[in-house]
Amino acid sequence: MTTRTESIPADVLGALALPDPDTLTEDQRRGIVCVWGSDRLDTVTAVDLGVQDDEGARCWFPRACPACTADRAHRALLDHASDCTDCRRVPAPGEPTVCEVARVLTRLVRGGRTARRSNRMRPTEGTPTR
Ligand SMILES: [Zn+2]
Ligand SMILES: [Zn+2]
Repeated sequence: MTTRTESIPADVLGALALPDPDTLTEDQRRGIVCVWGSDRLDTVTAVDLGVQDDEGARCWFPRACPACTADRAHRALLDHASDCTDCRRVPAPGEPTVCEVARVLTRLVRGGRTARRSNRMRPTEGTPTR
């Protein structure tokens, strides 16, 4: 068992809003290409989004590049925080983040930023909304 990547809880996957597998290519469903982009994934940096069971019919194995994941996680965090009681509560100094969803999303955002910095020379994917 590897401990390199912490698996992502279902709540967090829900907040990230995975695309409908029917709209994805075979390579995207198999985790070869980023689910939110068109990059072929690097096994070392790819974020494993778990095995998704498409209503029992078939499984698909979404993975994403750190940059797309960070982007999604950032948006999900903003959405999530506006209607989560744990997140709206201001923690006392030194108190850890109590909300698991927010904690995992924050980790994904940070992970993407780190990867982006070290991969500065790579072309960016066709996802930015600007
Ligand atoms: Zn991507
Ligand atoms: Zn929360």
